[in-house]
Amino acid sequence: MGLTRAWPAPRDGQAFDLVVVGGGATGLGVALEAAQRGLDVALFESHDFASGTSSRSTKLLHGGVRYLAQGNLSLVREALAERAAVLQLAPHLAQPLAFVMPAYRWWQAPFYGAGLMLYDLLAGRAGLGRTRWLQRAATLQALPGVQPQGLRGGVQYWDGQFDDARLAIALARTAQAAGAQLLNHTEVTRLQRPANGPSQVGLRDRLSGREAVVHARCVVNAAGVWVDALRQRPGTAHATPAKLVSPSQGVHLVVDRSFMPGERALLVPRTRDGRVLFVVPWLGQLILGTTDTPRPDLPREPHALAEERQFILSEASAVLARTVRLSDVRSEWVGLRPLVAAPESNDKATRQLSREHTIVQDDDGLVTVVGGKWTTYRAMALEVIEHCMQHALLPHRPAGHRDAPLLGAPAPTSTAPALHTPPGLHLYGTLAPEVLACAGAQRELGLGLTEAMVRYAVRREFACTVEDVLSRRWRALFLDAREARRMAPAVAEILQQEGVGDPGLADFTALCGHYLPHDPV
Ligand code: FAD
Repeated sequence: MGLTRAWPAPRDGQAFDLVVVGGGATGLGVALEAAQRGLDVALFESHDFASGTSSRSTKLLHGGVRYLAQGNLSLVREALAERAAVLQLAPHLAQPLAFVMPAYRWWQAPFYGAGLMLYDLLAGRAGLGRTRWLQRAATLQALPGVQPQGLRGGVQYWDGQFDDARLAIALARTAQAAGAQLLNHTEVTRLQRPANGPSQVGLRDRLSGREAVVHARCVVNAAGVWVDALRQRPGTAHATPAKLVSPSQGVHLVVDRSFMPGERALLVPRTRDGRVLFVVPWLGQLILGTTDTPRPDLPREPHALAEERQFILSEASAVLARTVRLSDVRSEWVGLRPLVAAPESNDKATRQLSREHTIVQDDDGLVTVVGGKWTTYRAMALEVIEHCMQHALLPHRPAGHRDAPLLGAPAPTSTAPALHTPPGLHLYGTLAPEVLACAGAQRELGLGLTEAMVRYAVRREFACTVEDVLSRRWRALFLDAREARRMAPAVAEILQQEGVGDPGLADFTALCGHYLPHDPV
């Protein structure tokens, strides 16, 4: 029996050149790269696209200022080139953002400024703007809400910011338009490769419970922090391999934009205990984060530790004029970094582990890709597909139009509203008229989401549940969990009108409590 959806889905027994497991940044990038080359590709995601780590990032497209300090210049240069490429691919979802590092000691501005000059130099033509030293008055103007006491000046530099989950949906839709078949809420439960035959990929639809098997010449495991589970799954034809991932969790707290109402982000490169802190305006709110704590278990919804919350609240309060309290937090979300395990890893120093990716091929041909960062998804995808072709797992096909804009991308010259402003129709880019054509375009449910957008999410953006809509098609849960909980029944009703049997309202209501640290349900 095949798996049913409103969009084209693989049939039981269907054969593909490539099956990709995992619909985060990495898997979607691989599926798009393959589809653009004319390969026959299917991608299966056990939950929703980007529901793992790829919706929980700091939302920065960056070269990695902190890797400069580690002297890893080639890693930084590659990421800076990729940063520029992604900004071109989806200007409605990814834009340049100015960052200011406030300086409270005499040496900080010249020290960090010199490093950032090198950052500019490495970016070369991919640079987004030049690093500038700011006097005290200019810093106060650039960062309204910053702690003025003891402030000497600052350094301004440029990076990018994006809406991670919506970019994932844009990748999925672009891959679909290029011929890929993508299915969310569909878990790969079994992988078997008979001698001299295609792999058999067992699937289970988590919404209906239905099962199916498809065949693939090549299987790419892009399951993020869960890659090792897939490699070690019973029925998988390899001996238990060494773990590839050393996961680390990162917490973000979201507070009202009035704590720092300007248009720039703030970076503290070295907090009092030597960590990094970001204060980033995003979709009308302010993101504070993040942490880096080893997390060997792999829950779907990890909890923040009290120490992590305390670190973010106290460091943000130190650099902002107003004290940030737990009761100010509108949403708290936690993501797991799929850091590549170093052989000498002792699980105590994940900050020392590289964000670089790795590609591993098991004896039975299963190719696993893990690590890297959102910013470099394209580079990783290219390397994976080239690896598969070089090892005769896929037929040779020349690269497609890798620089073609993603579906919905407006012309780079058009001026899309900034991503730090509240969410609205502009996030659909050139597809906005399609949204407006759905019923309920004038009926707002909250946080800029309309009835028409919910209908569009089901019809065109692969949404199946209330959580898909309010977490990732629209970032309500990440911006204000209490408001998301209020909006949920109306969204559920529209999903049912669109033919969704059980939109998972009760599950989503419970999930909202998880995102409200001071108000558990
Ligand atoms: P995931 O997004 O986790 O995708 C893997 C998917 O595989 C999941 O959706 C999962 O459901 C699915 N899956 C697992 N098992 C199966 C199965 N058996 N069958 C089907 N599907 C399966 N990068 C940046 O560039 N900029 C940033 O600002 C940034 N900030 C970050 C902040 C934090 C706190 C964290 C944790 C990471 C950050 N990153 C950032 C890194 C970036 O988010 C990740 O590198 C990237 O999202 C990883 O994507 P992925 O596709 O490999 O993993």
